[in-house]
Amino acid sequence: MPKRIAIVGGGYVGARLAKSLDDTAEVTLIEPRSHFVHAPAMIRAVVDPALLDRALIPYDRLLRNGRLLRARASAIDEGGVTLEDGERVEADYIVVGTGSSYALPFKPMGDDIEGLRRANHRVHDQLRAARTIGIVGAGAVGTELAGEIAHAMPDRKITLISAHGRLFPDLPEKFGNALAAKLQEAGVTLIFGQRARNLQSLTEPYTGSLTLSDGTGHDFDLIFPVLGSRANSDLVDRLPGAQKTTANRIKVDPWLRPSSLPNVLAAGDVADPGDNMTIVAASRQLPWLESALKGLMAGKRLDAMKPYRPWGPRAPILVPLGPRRGNSFLVWFTAGDFLTRKMKGEDLFLKRYHKLLNRA
Ligand SMILES: Cc1cc2nc3c(=O)[nH]c(=O)nc-3n(C[C@H](O)[C@H](O)[C@H](O)COP(=O)(O)OP(=O)(O)OC[C@H]3O[C@@H](n4cnc5c(N)ncnc54)[C@H](O)[C@@H]3O)c2cc1C
Repeated sequence: MPKRIAIVGGGYVGARLAKSLDDTAEVTLIEPRSHFVHAPAMIRAVVDPALLDRALIPYDRLLRNGRLLRARASAIDEGGVTLEDGERVEADYIVVGTGSSYALPFKPMGDDIEGLRRANHRVHDQLRAARTIGIVGAGAVGTELAGEIAHAMPDRKITLISAHGRLFPDLPEKFGNALAAKLQEAGVTLIFGQRARNLQSLTEPYTGSLTLSDGTGHDFDLIFPVLGSRANSDLVDRLPGAQKTTANRIKVDPWLRPSSLPNVLAAGDVADPGDNMTIVAASRQLPWLESALKGLMAGKRLDAMKPYRPWGPRAPILVPLGPRRGNSFLVWFTAGDFLTRKMKGEDLFLKRYHKLLNRA
């Protein structure tokens, strides 16, 4: 009898894992959204809404054998998953990949794909009408957004505000400095070491003024709050022994277990094994997860298997500034415009994720 695996959440972890186990286990993927949301393309979609149709990919062709349940899980226990409507999905193993939430128009609120489309169009129209743009938060999303707007709308006055002393403070100085120089060359003003004291919204762009920690005031036609992801951890939070770390994530042990339940694993943004909240981290966790589940199905004990080893904070990252420019930190070296464009900037991995979801 094939083992039953319930996967909660069909993001980068859930969709890929479900497909890779589709032939070896009885897979049930629980996902309330109609479409997979390819986050890296959602940044450029703000300046080019035509990208939306490729960034939002229908789930319906993902699995050949397994079940895709368009539903939200409301509880997990050792025997399976309970859905919001009370239905039960019995399972031998459960993998939680409920990911994280982010401000509009980059990720949907809950499962509202139509709401995400509307937000994209609204913000694009606001952006077209805006002359001055403030971006609060200079992580990868804020930095890329500044680069995309500067590329597509070079006459806009863009200000990127960071609480840190430089871009990407955890990575070699050369990397952040190269990106900063390219943004400045494109006319972007960078403000470092300042926090916005009076953000009116953390969840969507708005028109207003910002007071920074040095007391200065700045008016903007459009302010983008891009302050990072927050994990969707409610389901795992309630499991015995679960512990929260930062950004609402749940600590996992070296075998990606978030609780004392031996058959529940968690990966991606919701789980904190010492990796950042990135697709790059999920991509390292996936092969481990896949072979651990195959080992479990073959009767091995999880803690007799090799533990997962995280990237840690110095993981690779590719930061395009529009389709042509950018820099990448590739652990052993940093790359400039050409490699960043070829690896990510041109296509934003769209082909790879269309292939995953069995779309032409
Ligand atoms: C704008 C943006 C751009 C990004 N670009 C990059 C990039 O270029 N490179 C990179 O490495 N990282 C990037 N990231 C980070 C990346 O998107 C995340 O690390 C990634 O989405 C995490 O994948 P995941 O599978 O853990 O969760 P998610 O992709 O968040 O997917 C979680 C899924 O779980 C579902 N779910 C939630 N709760 C439930 C529930 N109760 N029941 C059932 N299903 C549920 C959701 O509907 C969702 O489909 C970006 C993030 C943003 C916001």
